[in-house]
Amino acid sequence: MLSLENYYFEKINFQDPTLSVHNGLIMPKNKSSADQANRVARILERLEQAYPNAQCALRHSNPLELLVATILSAQCTDERVNIVTKDLFRKYRSPRDYAGVRPEELENDIRSTGFFRNKTKSIQGTCRMIQEKFGGSVPGVMEELLLLPGVARKTANVVLGVAFKKAAGIVVDTHVYRVSRRLDLTRSETPENIERDLMQIIPGDKWISFSHQMILHGRNICKARKPRCSECPVNSICYAEDKVS
Ligand code: SF4
Repeated sequence: MLSLENYYFEKINFQDPTLSVHNGLIMPKNKSSADQANRVARILERLEQAYPNAQCALRHSNPLELLVATILSAQCTDERVNIVTKDLFRKYRSPRDYAGVRPEELENDIRSTGFFRNKTKSIQGTCRMIQEKFGGSVPGVMEELLLLPGVARKTANVVLGVAFKKAAGIVVDTHVYRVSRRLDLTRSETPENIERDLMQIIPGDKWISFSHQMILHGRNICKARKPRCSECPVNSICYAEDKVS
């Protein structure tokens, strides 16, 4: 006869010694910091194996294009943004170009990405400040990027990591938010606190690649509604409540 614990372990084909079963729930055992570091290392290793070439999916050829594309990507798919920016980047080549048109014209050019009025305000306000305060170039420092209207840490981290190759933080978008909580890398609920938690357990030289890998993993496998757990490379070390066995 199987004990309750073995029953659950066998039922889900689970062999992770860092987990235990309490009242039918799969839970992490009380872990030492060494165990936790080991688990994080295993997650990083598996993400690296699964997504060795993960990179930003937004097409761009300079920091300004990436900044504009990232602003447009809020509540919109990268595919849609790439379609819109194909023409947009031909028409607008400098901060002056974006700042100089009537808002209605830019709104029309980015309409299909959604929230086009707010995005127009952000892009034009950002481009005006880049012109007036930063000599026409996108700043490559977190503190300065955060001064730009409509630019929060997520956008700043994308621009710094991808365009400037600077690991200033970890991108916490909707995918990183969901996946890092499912993997119990954080229990925080705001993007700011989740980023802070992740920065404490992920080595700094992995921040950029980890962001891309988590985004790709969330988009392709660890989906919001129906995670594809049977195909997941970190399945055996995941104990998310909504995991699909
Ligand atoms: S096992 Fe499922 S819930 Fe856990 S990380 Fe993988 S896809 Fe997400």
